[in-house]
Amino acid sequence: MDTTQILVTVAGAALIAGNLWFFFGKKATIKPVAKGALYACPMHPWITSNDPTADCSICGMKLVRSDEIST
Ligand SMILES: [Zn+2]
Repeated sequence: MDTTQILVTVAGAALIAGNLWFFFGKKATIKPVAKGALYACPMHPWITSNDPTADCSICGMKLVRSDEIST
């Protein structure tokens, strides 16, 4: 194994580690906040309301807490 191969391997590993850190770091900050729960349609997540009794204006489904929808 020559020096170039080692450098490429190390650089590749560093790149992958950096990507992983970026992804998981980003995910942690996106974690939804509990205060002022937002309700959304499971089928149409862009239909949202602060009212827990609201229905989706497209399909009429009961809105669920947006932090309960798995992404
Ligand atoms: Zn809907």
